[in-house]
Amino acid sequence: MPNNLDNLIKRAAKALKRANYAIAFTGAGISVESGIPPFRGPTGLWSKYSPTILDLYHFRDFPEESWPTIKEIFYDYWETAKPNPAHYGLAELETNGIIKEIITQNIDNLHQKAGSKRVHEFHGTLKTLTCMDCYHNFKYDPILLKKLPASCPDCHGLLKPNFVFFSEAIPEQAKISSIEAIVKADLILVIGTLGEVMPACQLPYLAKKTNNATIIEINIEESNFTRKITDIFLKGKAGEILPEILHYF
Ligand code: NAD
Repeated sequence: MPNNLDNLIKRAAKALKRANYAIAFTGAGISVESGIPPFRGPTGLWSKYSPTILDLYHFRDFPEESWPTIKEIFYDYWETAKPNPAHYGLAELETNGIIKEIITQNIDNLHQKAGSKRVHEFHGTLKTLTCMDCYHNFKYDPILLKKLPASCPDCHGLLKPNFVFFSEAIPEQAKISSIEAIVKADLILVIGTLGEVMPACQLPYLAKKTNNATIIEINIEESNFTRKITDIFLKGKAGEILPEILHYF
């Protein structure tokens, strides 16, 4: 590990120890080492599939077109993914009392699988599906997706995964609890997010503005935050940097 990165990791660990209320804000990059591709970039999902499959109105009007792809990329594959050392590292920092809460843009449930308890899923989750007619929620069960488009066992309305589609609002409870966490935070550990998706990308700015929070960022490359609000930039893979930080605890 280059000396400079090692020094920055030491500084990051020190800042985490000193913080009164440190939280993590995570994006697709933290799950890349679990085999889940991000949306953007040369290996991203949008280089292979059209984002229209996740447009709410397109989904509602053409579910027979959207559902098979949604099942293939989200349920057949992501559902079996396992947490990597970055997810486990964050869970350990929560157990140690260092990280108080996690706000994630991810829908893959890997923070919870790694043992994290206080996770706010800003963009919803794959774990449940909701009926677009009667609004009943159903825990994911492969049986629900046996016949596509998936339909509600109660009223036969169209079932939709409970994560946020394009043109859809952020789930109210996740939005409120995320903002509550942000305004308390004096340190944000931003991991694997480009900072492009609105309104999620505004959260670290809000913490900086409210409490002048220290921003520690882990990413393989600079993001939209790096030159604007990041105080300590740790360049590298989340699954490698997080365990290095943990050495100091
Ligand atoms: P993004 O795809 O816009 O950006 C991913 C970021 O991760 C990039 O900045 C990239 O440099 C970085 N990165 C890639 N590999 C990394 C690694 N090993 N370690 C650290 N950083 C790494 O992702 P985003 O900003 O989170 O926004 C995309 C949206 O897509 C999110 O809102 C999220 O809901 C959704 N999404 C979720 C998942 C998931 O649940 N795992 C996967 C893809 C997309």
